[in-house]
Amino acid sequence: MNTANEIRERCEKEIAELQQVCKHPKKQWMMYAWAPGHYNGEICLVCLVCSKELERKNLPDDWCSFKNLPPKYIEYVYKENEALRSAIIQS
Ligand SMILES: [Zn+2]
Repeated sequence: MNTANEIRERCEKEIAELQQVCKHPKKQWMMYAWAPGHYNGEICLVCLVCSKELERKNLPDDWCSFKNLPPKYIEYVYKENEALRSAIIQS
């Protein structure tokens, strides 16, 4: 019988191998959260196939208010992500 740690290590190794060979055909900018629901004003470009973080950058300070999102922020982060943009606007 496998322990949870053994299964976790095996899965992490498989994902690492996938990330090494993946050509990252589908990418998307997402808000970075250091814990669920805790955003720090950074966005990251993530491959939708292998989940590798390809790039991360800070947003300008005046774009980091998540309670009152300026339209330019939404346009910048979610230009290619209609579903997430709609979710933010509705919250
Ligand atoms: Zn990839």
